Amino acid sequence: MSPSLDDIRRAPKVLLHDHLDGGLRAETIVELARETGYDRLPTVDPDNLRLWFQEAADSGSLERYLETFEHTVGVMQTRESLVRVAAECAQDLAADGVVYAEVRYAPEQHTTMGLSLDQVVEAVLEGFKLGSEQAGGHGIRVGTLLTAMRHKARSMEIAELAVRYRDVGVVGFDIAGAEAGYPPTRHLDAFEYLQRENAHFTIHAGEAFGLPSIWQAIQWCGADRLGHGVRIIDDISVAGDGSAKLGRLAAYVRDKRIPLEMCPTSNLQTGAADSIADHPIGLLRRLHFRVTVNTDNRLMSSTSVSLEFAKLVEAFGYGWDDLQWFTVNAMKSAFLPFDERLALINGVIKPGFAQRKWQP
Ligand SMILES: [Zn+2]
Repeated sequence: MSPSLDDIRRAPKVLLHDHLDGGLRAETIVELARETGYDRLPTVDPDNLRLWFQEAADSGSLERYLETFEHTVGVMQTRESLVRVAAECAQDLAADGVVYAEVRYAPEQHTTMGLSLDQVVEAVLEGFKLGSEQAGGHGIRVGTLLTAMRHKARSMEIAELAVRYRDVGVVGFDIAGAEAGYPPTRHLDAFEYLQRENAHFTIHAGEAFGLPSIWQAIQWCGADRLGHGVRIIDDISVAGDGSAKLGRLAAYVRDKRIPLEMCPTSNLQTGAADSIADHPIGLLRRLHFRVTVNTDNRLMSSTSVSLEFAKLVEAFGYGWDDLQWFTVNAMKSAFLPFDERLALINGVIKPGFAQRKWQP
């Protein structure tokens, strides 16, 4: 029997690529807009607002998709709003059965009402702590990734912020934003600094843009993981009999077990694939790349980790062994110390999946 959505919800899951400003509850956006005086929402009816976000994200362009964030970021400019959004994020993920999550956001986008970068980070950390304490089920642990915007010039400052807070919940660094015209090598000084500090980072690469972006992220910048990385399939050719030939970059990514933070529904919305069944994740899983399954923006994509899994089950016929494989891949790739990753794999993930597999 293939796993049902309800069963998948009860299995312990891991999430590595989720944006804090892409996962707000529509009701919360409306309330925070009222409390903080933000008057540019397209509608103040939560149901209509939820739909508006999905439709804007469905429009097919990455630039248009990124526009939706003006509103979520617009209501996340006070300490109280950041604490609340982070707390609700932890609760929502825990309710979906996520046991470990790395949630990212760009501190520099939350300072328009006077918060300092440090105050932003501290508010979000406090929110995750509160939300995790209130979470039921398997319980959840949330690590934070600090993102720098690739079209801005503050990556060094944000990298230093990530290092400063690394012992209290910030586990890594990322750069995000429209890829075209803004190669990751613009931020080389930040990546070199992080490497000297023995710190971890991932880079959004190979979503809308092709192989050069992935190559730069890995070979110039030294990324530990790739955000999306979908276009790596441009370096793989598949023959009529299904056999695959990997180019040098694809082979390197697979040989080095470089984790791909894949976000199937989000990729459909930005035009990186036409349907889940056509998504490169099917081929990449078959070829044993280090594939992980993620949400990207739960509000815009109206999704959750469980829903992403359910869609993959439907499109590719995956069973519990596949879902566990994705989950263990994600946990192995987390920016947590090795012994803590192992403890979650052996103490929570494997027993949790065994329970789901063997239930009558
Ligand atoms: Zn992303």
